[in-house]
Amino acid sequence: MSITPAVAPTPAPSPIAFFDMKAQQALIRAEIDAGIARILEHGRFIQGPEVDALEAKLAAFCGAAECVGVSSGTDALQIALMAEGIGPRDAVFLPAFTYTATAEVPLLLGATPVFVDVEPASFNLDLADLERRIALVAKEGRLRPRAVIGVDLYGLPADWPAIEALCARHGMFALDDAAQAFGARLEGRRLGGFAHATACSFYPTKTLGCYGDGGAIITNDPARAELYRSLRTHGEGKSRYEVLRTGMNGRLDSIQAAILLAKLPLLEAELAARARAAGWYAERLREPVVAPQGRAGAESAWGIYSILLPDADSRTRVQAAMQAAGVPSAIYYPKPLHHQPAYAAAHAGSLAGGPPPLPVSEALCGRVLSLPMHPYLTEAQVERVAAAVLSGL
Ligand SMILES: *Cc1c(COP(=O)(O)O)cnc(C)c1O
Repeated sequence: MSITPAVAPTPAPSPIAFFDMKAQQALIRAEIDAGIARILEHGRFIQGPEVDALEAKLAAFCGAAECVGVSSGTDALQIALMAEGIGPRDAVFLPAFTYTATAEVPLLLGATPVFVDVEPASFNLDLADLERRIALVAKEGRLRPRAVIGVDLYGLPADWPAIEALCARHGMFALDDAAQAFGARLEGRRLGGFAHATACSFYPTKTLGCYGDGGAIITNDPARAELYRSLRTHGEGKSRYEVLRTGMNGRLDSIQAAILLAKLPLLEAELAARARAAGWYAERLREPVVAPQGRAGAESAWGIYSILLPDADSRTRVQAAMQAAGVPSAIYYPKPLHHQPAYAAAHAGSLAGGPPPLPVSEALCGRVLSLPMHPYLTEAQVERVAAAVLSGL
């Protein structure tokens, strides 16, 4: 399907959207209206037939056996950890440089998040640091190393074959937080076929987004998928009023599924358009700006486009120059999670002698800057953004 907007791109200096959901909506408005109208007719607003249809399509898109639609990416993470029985005395390893939801979920379940540093070029888990922290926790013996949550930050797949091997060696659960990376590929395969389970978010600004909250868990393990289906509906068994386990309300609603069904046919072309925009940025940005480096064998979904600037002062100057030029920017993320008030105590207590420092995560928070990224960016708009960035240096 073509994703060329029906309206011609407006000439500069038109406003540049950081994320753009309007151009896309214009292409599929009729399908969305028809999908919502059908739901108003049949009245199965929650977990209706659209959810079943979506689950089948998403599993096929990712080349995985099972997809379980849930109410958000955060709930996808929570249900996946609940299914493993993760709770008090369990250590869950995750990057210090990620969105808060990744760390929040283990804490909600009574487990301890153990923050791991990231690689400076890929922004993904540093596996040597992960090994080191697993060994420290195991040696201390107070917490059991139970799970690793790898995050495909900004859309770039983490090194899943290596994380899978490490988790197999230690008997740990591997959970992929692919909330920013739906559609990304690694070694030619889409995320969803890696790790024991993959958590997806369909928050409106993600690469595949609905018009509310939504998410999914993708797995190749039918036994896990069955557990996820039970947990998302209050732990129900074969009949609705048989409660087998403590679950939650993690259901997906039919209208969000209908919107995702209308959007999915656009996704392949939109991912290509994001990669093309990333290429335009890379051609124009130059020293001392560091454009995203990627990873061999990985095709990013380009959920977020983040550059590195020399330091916090130059970032402040660049942001001011961009604002003056009418170009939006954002900082994902200004603080590593172990410095957040909500997590500092859990971090400090995760190892008796105090955990080792997380220097890369701390340094990145002072240097990252995210530029507009969406499939409907024109080359002229990328040119304007890049010029605004360079003018601030
Ligand atoms: C967006 C996001 C989430 C949470 O997804 P929601 O659907 O908003 O709950 C989790 N992890 C990461 C890395 C995210 O970017």
